[in-house]
Amino acid sequence: MLLQNKQVAIIGGGPGGLTLARLLQVEGVHVKVYERDPGKNARVQGSPLDLHETSGLAAIRKAGLLDIFRANYMDGADRTTITNPNAEILFSDHEQPGEQTFGDEHFRPEIDRGVLRRILLESLHEDTVIWDSHFISMKPTANGWTLQFKNGHQAFADLVIAADGANSKLRPYVTGIKPFYTGITMLEGHVADAAKNIPGMTAILRGGKIMAFGKNQDILMGQKADGEVGFYASFRTHESWAKTNGLDYNSNESVLEWFRKEYPEWGSQWHELFANATDAFIPRPIYCMPYDQEWEPLPNLTLLGDAAHLMPPFAGEGVNMAMLDALELSEQLLTEANNTLVEAIGIYEKQMRRRASVVAKESTDNGERMHSENALESMLDFFQGK
Ligand SMILES: Cc1cc2nc3c(=O)[nH]c(=O)nc-3n(C[C@H](O)[C@H](O)[C@H](O)COP(=O)(O)OP(=O)(O)OC[C@H]3O[C@@H](n4cnc5c(N)ncnc54)[C@H](O)[C@@H]3O)c2cc1C
Repeated sequence: MLLQNKQVAIIGGGPGGLTLARLLQVEGVHVKVYERDPGKNARVQGSPLDLHETSGLAAIRKAGLLDIFRANYMDGADRTTITNPNAEILFSDHEQPGEQTFGDEHFRPEIDRGVLRRILLESLHEDTVIWDSHFISMKPTANGWTLQFKNGHQAFADLVIAADGANSKLRPYVTGIKPFYTGITMLEGHVADAAKNIPGMTAILRGGKIMAFGKNQDILMGQKADGEVGFYASFRTHESWAKTNGLDYNSNESVLEWFRKEYPEWGSQWHELFANATDAFIPRPIYCMPYDQEWEPLPNLTLLGDAAHLMPPFAGEGVNMAMLDALELSEQLLTEANNTLVEAIGIYEKQMRRRASVVAKESTDNGERMHSENALESMLDFFQGK
């Protein structure tokens, strides 16, 4: 085996990195995950994730975690309601009989990010993840790398996998290619105990998702675990909006005032979201890696997930691609068919880039459609299969 007596370091304990750790560890590979979060109880932010049969779920199945996933996904959270800016319901699939079964390619079960992370963590040997390990740099040592962390610790690895997400610190060791801004920014908010705090919106949400479309601007909402709801105001703006808008992200009043001003055609029903947000708002400018990126494979370093192919979230594919990367990379690293690490990495990277570029383009195109002048009509057509 190519990885016999080798130490593998995965930088980043997101869904991609943890899935790879599991897939390698069950085959006896020595693997450590270095994660900057202080501990396993650090809160995982962001929207819930829908896993797809031939990517995210395929990785879960190969990792032997399908039963625990089935016990923890949010039944019904994939149901979608589309509204106009006045929160009038124009489409809902809540009443449609669903093909709600695992194994069906149209079934996209939703899981809370924190729950997915817990499932993956609990599948690993206890000392696999080294918390509070914020990677800052590395230097070549023998045939591998010496990793340097912010807390002063160092570690050696024969093979390093960059799974450190959108703003990867390892990407520049592989390629100088940088992501481009898509013209869209999302402002993320959360409401705990949503049934009590935002009863109007909870009644429309019905434990699923809301997609509300106006002209060039949207609100997207989704059920999370423990009665929490996550939402995004999503809109076209310039790249530096998040840093120059003067908003106090800790102040619900400040953000609500912004919403009233910037979403003037939207009904007051939406105000309860902003007025009752329970954490600071998080601005998320949306970036994408170029579709035609290429680089030469290295024998001791590769990328997966957002670190490799950051893409907009508008096709719900980012996490699925990250987990499929983990599956395909583990297969190339473990097969007897490859004679060298550079060969295994080269095969993985070639197919990963080709696959991700198609999906990234689709995600960007969806983003354009969802933030267009006629987004509502266009998305209704899409959901009604016209
Ligand atoms: C607003 C928004 C909504 C989204 N919605 C969806 C969706 O519905 N469906 C979907 O499939 N995808 C969605 N995505 C995309 C999805 O979140 C990502 O594609 C996915 O999380 C990528 O997984 P990853 O493991 O590659 O990276 P990440 O999930 O980003 O994980 C990276 C990990 O690395 C750690 N890390 C970062 N830097 C360092 C460092 N220097 N040292 C050590 N550790 C580090 C981080 O703490 C984190 O744990 C969304 C993204 C955004 C921004």
